[in-house]
Amino acid sequence: MRYIHTRQETVLNPTFVLTQFLTNHGKFQQYLHRIGKAASPKCPCSEDDQTAMHLLLHCKLQEKNRPAHIKDPNIVLRKVIKMPQTIKYINEIFQTLK
Ligand SMILES: [Zn+2]
Repeated sequence: MRYIHTRQETVLNPTFVLTQFLTNHGKFQQYLHRIGKAASPKCPCSEDDQTAMHLLLHCKLQEKNRPAHIKDPNIVLRKVIKMPQTIKYINEIFQTLK
């Protein structure tokens, strides 16, 4: 029941870009590698595989544009994902992907 309640609280406009981030199926090297479209799953930062969460939370190449509320170690993703600053940041990340 708690899970259903949480889902009811979440109001998102599932854009093309946001859907790719939420499903981790998009222009991410790890996904492209899994489906045979990229030679390596690694992020260009070479720290980790390039996934949506890596880009959103940890990638040093995205660090300068990352909003302060996403740098919070106690981040609750289901809360911040619907914030306009987060959506803007996700769109900015998407523009950097090849
Ligand atoms: Zn990275």
